[in-house]
Amino acid sequence: MTDRILEFLRNRREDGPCLVVDLEVVRDNYLAFARAMPDTRVFYAVKANPDPAVLELLAGLGSCFDTASVVEIQQALAAGATADRISFGNTIKKERDIRRAYELGVRLYAVDCEAEVEKVARAAPGSRVFCRLLCDGSGAEWPLSRKFGCDPEMAPRVLEHAHRLGLVAYGLSFHVGSQQRDPKMWDGALKAASTIFRDLAERGIVLQMVNLGGGFPTRYLKAVPGVRAYAQTIMDSLRSHFGNKIPETIIEPGRGMVGNAGVIEAEVVLISKKSDDDKVKWVYLDIGKFNGLAETMDEMIRYPIRTPFDGDETEPCVLAGPSCDSVDVLYEKEPYALPVSLEIGAKVLIEGTGAYTTTYSCVGFNGFPPLKSYVI
Ligand SMILES: *Cc1c(COP(=O)(O)O)cnc(C)c1O
Repeated sequence: MTDRILEFLRNRREDGPCLVVDLEVVRDNYLAFARAMPDTRVFYAVKANPDPAVLELLAGLGSCFDTASVVEIQQALAAGATADRISFGNTIKKERDIRRAYELGVRLYAVDCEAEVEKVARAAPGSRVFCRLLCDGSGAEWPLSRKFGCDPEMAPRVLEHAHRLGLVAYGLSFHVGSQQRDPKMWDGALKAASTIFRDLAERGIVLQMVNLGGGFPTRYLKAVPGVRAYAQTIMDSLRSHFGNKIPETIIEPGRGMVGNAGVIEAEVVLISKKSDDDKVKWVYLDIGKFNGLAETMDEMIRYPIRTPFDGDETEPCVLAGPSCDSVDVLYEKEPYALPVSLEIGAKVLIEGTGAYTTTYSCVGFNGFPPLKSYVI
């Protein structure tokens, strides 16, 4: 929460929930990453918040961009990034999208199997590829599970195949899971990476780069370590596994770059009980899973919520969205403590919502429009 955001909201007249992102916070976050990890290049994960003003600010500060589609590549280019500062980091790409990326000048691609290597070799000849390793995401609040990456046993074969097909076997990547609250979780992946570096060096393929991925957290309800703690712990792991041959490194922060820069203002639509002896109240907001708060899925991300009645006595509430779908309940398994005095019509502020909110909001389920966004 910043004074600039509060000031903006005081003057706002439109109806409906909205996200307000403070660019000064994004700038501070970028500089904190750059200072804590001076030898590491920052590739902002565009999907976290692709607002043109956010991308332009980061491009101007010198950031690179991790993209997952041709549209995201075009967004990064439009913001002023040159193609040599863009990676196509999705391991699941159509060959014609790879060709389009290649035409736009992109020369850095993620792969996690031989079939994807073959697509890149055909559509983006001579490019650099890095192989993504599976990571189980333990310790993360939003784990990325098994969808991306291959077993470390398989990675050398994937990179050898790339080398054989004329690509540059450039390095390895992994993602320790989003909202990773334990900086030590990079260690296991770095150990596996160093083994693969040695393995391939023996076969004459010299890898150069380790992509440390995202995972850097935003503060929600629980405290999280700062960027410097992550930098320190990751550096210690790099030294212990790579000795004095530390590879080139990059990071791909998404949530850690923009999460705390955004606040959503929403309104209480209804407060009710389901029966006379119901232990919990139901509080319905004008925002839910379909218009911005998708990350409350399985109650994984618990946002701090401020109300005009903070400080009053609280009681456990089920918090739900406005749509006519019963999955549109934000917190029920673990009810959310809200002031007893909370009223219908009150405005609430949902903090830490700069990442993964606008991009996750749907086109108009039940006629509720996608989340409005203002960048100040
Ligand atoms: C989403 C994503 C990121 C960003 O992750 P955060 O946890 O938000 O920092 C980084 N890299 C890749 C490949 C991603 O898909």
